Amino acid sequence: MAIIVQKFGGTSVANAEKIRQAAERVIKTVKNGYQVVVVASARGKQTDGLIADALELNPNPPKREMDQLLSTGEQQSVSLFAMALDAMGYDAISFTGGQIRMLTTSDFTKAQIKSIDAERIHKQLDQGKIVIVAGFQGIDEDENITTLGRGGSDTTAVALAAALGAKECDIYTDVDGVFTTDPRIFKKAIKVEQISYDEMLEMASLGAGVMHNRAVGFGKKYDVKIHVRNSAKEIEGTIITHEVPQMEGIVVSGATIQKDMAKIGLVGLDNVPGIAARIFSCLAKAKVVVNDIVQTEIGPEKANLSFMVGSADLATAKEAVEQIKDELNCEHIFIRDDIAEISVVGVGMRSHYGVADKMFSTLSKANINIDSITTSEIRISCIVDKEQAEKALEAVCIAFELDKPAEERTKAG
Ligand code: ADP
Ligand code: ASP
Ligand code: MG
Repeated sequence: MAIIVQKFGGTSVANAEKIRQAAERVIKTVKNGYQVVVVASARGKQTDGLIADALELNPNPPKREMDQLLSTGEQQSVSLFAMALDAMGYDAISFTGGQIRMLTTSDFTKAQIKSIDAERIHKQLDQGKIVIVAGFQGIDEDENITTLGRGGSDTTAVALAAALGAKECDIYTDVDGVFTTDPRIFKKAIKVEQISYDEMLEMASLGAGVMHNRAVGFGKKYDVKIHVRNSAKEIEGTIITHEVPQMEGIVVSGATIQKDMAKIGLVGLDNVPGIAARIFSCLAKAKVVVNDIVQTEIGPEKANLSFMVGSADLATAKEAVEQIKDELNCEHIFIRDDIAEISVVGVGMRSHYGVADKMFSTLSKANINIDSITTSEIRISCIVDKEQAEKALEAVCIAFELDKPAEERTKAG
């Protein structure tokens, strides 16, 4: 019997009525002849509420205790989901991450999955049960509860789909699928029928919160078909899949906005071997994830270096570089946390010219200053002032016609 994993996000299990609706969807899939594994997130904005509770007692809560606390949100959802199914006459059993031995690293608040015990789940499915697993959480080697980072239930779902050899992983959420950009910010954004893993991975890493980036990475690595869809509607959503030749014809598939970030610049460093290595080993030791590293020689003896970090890591990163500032002969450290990143993404950029030109002239026409620019093969990103970021996103979306279906857009280059 084929297995389908169905993940329900926070809004899709926010109250009893929503849980019942989600349970009906699961039952329908069971009636269609599938074994179903459900992954549930914490209800509504519960994770935000728990974080606020923690911060009220301690502005810098120990990360292990944070995970111990945050995992309780998902634990409530799964038991309630199982109770709802039971009331509807279906046999269901809920598990925490620890109970299915979702083994992770010990990087509290951003742990990575190492392995999953699929046997326990198969055994329950084979007994005719619907299995409900708490998203977002696991345990480390010492049985400490860990969490996978905000939005991490998507990763639980896709990793489970891979471990169970599921036919498909459905991500039920509060929008119709993946849009050309966040539809809450750019109202004219349109739903994309299909998107490649690589594009979705870039978009998710650049702020498209509809999917957790690591979930997409798992999907690509283990060949999991991911279907992002609306839990409140009976319509097809977006399929995230391997690249097909037609995708190359679409120059820009989507645009993103990333606000929770900061830039750290180290000015006037000694231009000698080993400086960058020293800085990034220090940041790695502090478990800070860095992006967009730029180093430039500013003369034979001096260099400047800058990099981006998530807002949550800013204080730790700042402390780490301040500790080695003198050792590096660094003239000064500057920090900008009033910035945001606007990006355009598309596999078609590999074979079309003119994308950078259009992006920069659009921002120029909108009178938006670009702080810095980074690119990859399939994306262009600009750092702009946070207060101008939404205006910048809108201008870019209109320039790249992200309010129109791909086949109606004029080609760039
Ligand atoms: P869930 O609780 O179901 O996991 P999330 O809030 O994590 O839901 O993700 C859904 C939200 O992602 C949407 O409400 C939307 O505002 C946001 N989002 C950001 N970028 C995109 C995009 N490109 N397409 C669709 N939704 C997006
Ligand atoms: N509840 C967690 C969060 O709000 C995980 C998730 O929803 O995916 O980030
Ligand atoms: Mg989410």
